[in-house]
Amino acid sequence: KEKILQRRSLELRNKQEDWQGSPEGQRMLEFRRSLPAFKEKDAFLKVISNNQVIVVSGETGCGKTTQLPQYILESEIEAGCGAGCNIICTQPRRISAMSVSERVAAERGEKLGESVGYKVRLEGMKGRDTRLLFCTTGVLLRRLLVDRTLNGVTHVVVDEIHERGMNEDFLLIVLKELLPRRPDLRLILMSATLNAELFSSYFDGAPTMHIPGFTYPVRARFLEDILEMTGYRLNPYNQIDDYGQEKTWKMQKQALAFRKRKSQIASAVEDALEVADFHGYSLRTRESLSCWCPDSLGFNLIEHVLSHIVKNERPGAVLVFMTGWDDINSLKDKLQTHPLLGDPSRVLLLACHGSMASTEQRLIFENPEGGVRKIVLATNMAETSITINDVVFVVDCGKAKETSYDALNNTPCLLPSWISKAAARQRRGRAGRVQPGECYHLYPRCVYDAFADYQLPELLRTPLQSLCLQIKSLQLGSISEFLARALQPPEALSVQNAVEYLKIIGALDDNENLTVLGRKLSMLPVEPKLGKMLILGAIFNCLDPIMTVVAGLSVRDPFVMPADKKDLAESAKAQFSARDYSDHLALVRAYEGWKEAEAQQAGYEYCWRNFLSSQTLRAIDSLRKQFFYLLKDIGLVDHNSETYSRWSQEEHLVRAVICAGLFPGVSSVVDGHLKMLGGYLEFFMKPELANTYLRLKGELEELIQKKLLDPMFDTQSHDELLSAVRLVISEDHCDGRFVFGRRATPAPKVKEATNSKSSAGVEAENFKNQLQS
Ligand code: ADP
Ligand code: MG
Repeated sequence: KEKILQRRSLELRNKQEDWQGSPEGQRMLEFRRSLPAFKEKDAFLKVISNNQVIVVSGETGCGKTTQLPQYILESEIEAGCGAGCNIICTQPRRISAMSVSERVAAERGEKLGESVGYKVRLEGMKGRDTRLLFCTTGVLLRRLLVDRTLNGVTHVVVDEIHERGMNEDFLLIVLKELLPRRPDLRLILMSATLNAELFSSYFDGAPTMHIPGFTYPVRARFLEDILEMTGYRLNPYNQIDDYGQEKTWKMQKQALAFRKRKSQIASAVEDALEVADFHGYSLRTRESLSCWCPDSLGFNLIEHVLSHIVKNERPGAVLVFMTGWDDINSLKDKLQTHPLLGDPSRVLLLACHGSMASTEQRLIFENPEGGVRKIVLATNMAETSITINDVVFVVDCGKAKETSYDALNNTPCLLPSWISKAAARQRRGRAGRVQPGECYHLYPRCVYDAFADYQLPELLRTPLQSLCLQIKSLQLGSISEFLARALQPPEALSVQNAVEYLKIIGALDDNENLTVLGRKLSMLPVEPKLGKMLILGAIFNCLDPIMTVVAGLSVRDPFVMPADKKDLAESAKAQFSARDYSDHLALVRAYEGWKEAEAQQAGYEYCWRNFLSSQTLRAIDSLRKQFFYLLKDIGLVDHNSETYSRWSQEEHLVRAVICAGLFPGVSSVVDGHLKMLGGYLEFFMKPELANTYLRLKGELEELIQKKLLDPMFDTQSHDELLSAVRLVISEDHCDGRFVFGRRATPAPKVKEATNSKSSAGVEAENFKNQLQS
């Protein structure tokens, strides 16, 4: 074994020397030596040989991600023990794990999967000789599940720790506990901004190292300056064209004032009220807020600023920060029809987001020829994880998608929110890599002044339910004790809430031990309530529509709402939910229609006609397949029979399963007052049915446990229970309406509702009154 290792190490060394001696390798080395990280190479290697933990910070683009892990690899190979080293470098995002590994392989003159590889959920490129593996944080966490001590791993590099994602914070607690048991393991923490001290003191005063970088000054312009400079007029009457800039502005000031006064939850309620006002009665919270004042503020304004830059400014690439993939695509479509910006001989328009093709990815780093100006429309990925060198102009819309916690319906959701001052500074800095730059912030200075200094760590702003399940399935002991050891521990009350929630849904028993259901839920990569919905779907043999609902809720809404065709888009969506206003069933119907159209090669046209995103539908489709295999794996779907979807056509049953999954996010209206069973607003049912459901709940839970323990257990023999469950949400008994925080099915107009004395408008009034009181 020793001999084989030696031989492989030798091979690795010869290969590395050959590459570095070749003309191409020389050129690459020259580039790498020009990066600020290179000056610190020796010092870095020395520190890690003498210390178990090190914290490295440095300006984005100085070479942390691509160089530091490579230095370790190279020095091990040079020392002749390359085959024995095993470096894992985690990235918060799939796309960075993939693109960085590709870059590092190229810098080493190799193909991916030789000494450098990557692994993200359900995908990877890794070979026998892979010594440096880039993976997502989640992949490493899952490995820890089966391999507690990270056997054979020599170095763990945790990148982008300043982002303070939940997984990263979680990983740090686990690693901190592992270190004493693995004294030979080295831990390298890398961060862009300068909060290295926090991490260093968490790891008992681990040495820190800063890689100095240099950036040119960047001039900041805010909305008022931009309007004056470009002579652009916001159009107060045309809300859609200007993306509600005027209204938004006023709204934002109000919202910010609220936020200053109130706690986060109170401000969510205020938002809800604003929106309830606007829609008459619709109680959807933030999603409506963002429909009303769409988030990548003002396509027209962006277009105007871009054409100003292209016409009047010196050469240099432009980087536009948007919130997400759909906004980027719609803006790109719009710009492509512009006489100047859409002219390929003058402008090269590129998108940079998590799901772009790798050919497009490469173009981002290249310099276009012949005086063509490069414009990159990016998500906040370009803030720290990707560096485009030739950017001179930055356009910042001020928002980014972040997982936030909708207090009203207890849904963690990925919604556009205002960025922090630190993020705005970071975005601005992207303009000064090669020469002094300019930054256009598309919001007033007063909004900037109200930004938080730093973004709150994810652990402190999202529900902890999935995390608690993970802690339990990793057998890390008491949940609250474990979380108290975090870098910035969450409040005891939120931990308690999460544990309580898991007990209510039957995932934990009274002693905080995992139940059978809890164990199965921890194996499903979705939130507990969605996992429970899947399990119920399997038990009640209506898996097809349930998998669609869960996949839709975990990917994103496939219904697209282009700003300029919002009415059309909304009515297209309404066709799918006209009968019951159910967002969930609209999703199922839309997906099923798409599958049929796909079978006839008409999927694209179908999407176009119905304002659906075929990319999202494809993502849903593939996630459904994954769910199916996972459910098979954990023994919930019978391999040999087709029964799992026997009752898929029974909408009542499907609704009952959705309801039981969302429990306790179920409410009813009693004597005109909103009564929330579990304190969240996700689903409405009539009071008498709420009672039936509560009465049946115990039996239902028992049935779930029985079925999970014994897959052969026949649910059909429980006819009475089954038909009662079916009845819970039957068409005649239910209000026929879902209230759901993440979707935007157009609700009927308030006038009709109050005229006809139907309950909807009245409920909304009551709800508002209750909230106010
Ligand atoms: P950091 O992690 O410190 O932000 P990186 O290691 O990601 O920096 O990048 C260092 C430098 O390598 C960047 O400034 C950029 O010039 C170059 N670089 C990184 N990725 C690529 C790529 N895919 N193509 C070309 N150059 C790249
Ligand atoms: Mg990096």
